[in-house]
Amino acid sequence: MHHFFVDKKDIQGEEAYIRGEDLRHIRNVLHLQLKEKLSISDRESFVYIGEIADMNKEWLRLRILERRAFDTELPSRITLFQALPKSDKMEWIIQKTVELGVHELVPVLCKRCIVQWDEKKMEKKRERWQEIAKAAAKQSKRGIIPRVRLPISYTEALEEAAACRHAFFAYENERGVRQTLDMVNTVQAGEDIALIIGPEGGFEDTELVQAKDKGCKIVSLGSRILRTESAGFVLLSLLMFHLEGLHG
Ligand code: SAH
Repeated sequence: MHHFFVDKKDIQGEEAYIRGEDLRHIRNVLHLQLKEKLSISDRESFVYIGEIADMNKEWLRLRILERRAFDTELPSRITLFQALPKSDKMEWIIQKTVELGVHELVPVLCKRCIVQWDEKKMEKKRERWQEIAKAAAKQSKRGIIPRVRLPISYTEALEEAAACRHAFFAYENERGVRQTLDMVNTVQAGEDIALIIGPEGGFEDTELVQAKDKGCKIVSLGSRILRTESAGFVLLSLLMFHLEGLHG
């Protein structure tokens, strides 16, 4: 069943309306017909199943058959603080971590980030990233569309991460996954989590010290060095299995 995000104001009683880009997609690409079923999310709490009751070029009216609370969101909010990577790697990171259930993505400017960040092109790029998050959220039938933020400094990222109940700092020179597993096992449903992943060149010693000072939990992701675009994915999948496993 195809999945869409609809503004709360467009869901009234037994009916919901879809317009704009999604409507064009439904008509011109998916060729959905009257009576076919769709799922929609109000992005806040509920997902609805409905059938197409009527449609024209302007709008599609959905007759709502069923409403239920989100069942595809993780029970904890996970924010990925990702050192800004080269080329289009960020796009891959966004797509994959949205599939795994990330709540928010924050690109971070670390000392060894290679990419030159162009202030002028910044907002355009963020908008593109946000579109990628939306497409991935639709595809994986998320309740929310994870937000992709503008890049922030490393110091700001640590401040924010430290405000979460758990801040996991993936450090390439740390060894011993037993400790990683033990730390992940302390996470309870509902507790906010921050994941901090370094750039291609790794973290500088001063950045590690700063993270320790802020109380981050330093974790190993195994005995091999992972690429920056793999590291967040690996840590996030570990947390996803842990959190979903808490309730069977
Ligand atoms: N250039 C560095 C590796 C950087 S890997 C070197 O050769 O040592 C990029 C980022 O991925 C790291 O900063 C870290 O956050 C994460 N990472 C990669 N492998 C890891 C591992 N085995 N354990 C923990 N974090 C890892």
